Amino acid sequence: MNLTLHLTLEEMTYSEVAARLGLDNTPSPTVVANLGVVAACMETIRTFVGANPIVVHSGYRSAEVNHAVGGVETSAHCRGLACDFVCPGFGTPLEVALAISQSDIDYDQLILEYGWVHVGLAQNRSSFRREALTKRSPASAYELGINA
Ligand SMILES: [Zn+2]
Repeated sequence: MNLTLHLTLEEMTYSEVAARLGLDNTPSPTVVANLGVVAACMETIRTFVGANPIVVHSGYRSAEVNHAVGGVETSAHCRGLACDFVCPGFGTPLEVALAISQSDIDYDQLILEYGWVHVGLAQNRSSFRREALTKRSPASAYELGINA
């Protein structure tokens, strides 16, 4: 099922870990609605990065799946409000994150992670923090800003 022109619900709910461990990653109707909002944001980003395809690494994660991947408990992924992705046609995750941080695209959290970019939205658009962070490894602390 397409959420937007270029993004499907399947892409936004697929989890390699869930498939491997046999965990349920079926989204609720509320989560599906949230994923639609995230997909719309990803379309804006896709257009912004020169219409290069967005490759989704992780969208929705059920509590079980989030636990299995070591995600933080309050993760926006668990509400279907986040997307981890790369866009190799545009550049490295650093280049993609820098470009988004310098754009006027609305986000709550933008995180340059080790190997991909995380975009998180808040349930309420007016509470978007537009916070940009860098996380260099699973164990490292979050740094303010998008840093090389
Ligand atoms: Zn993420």
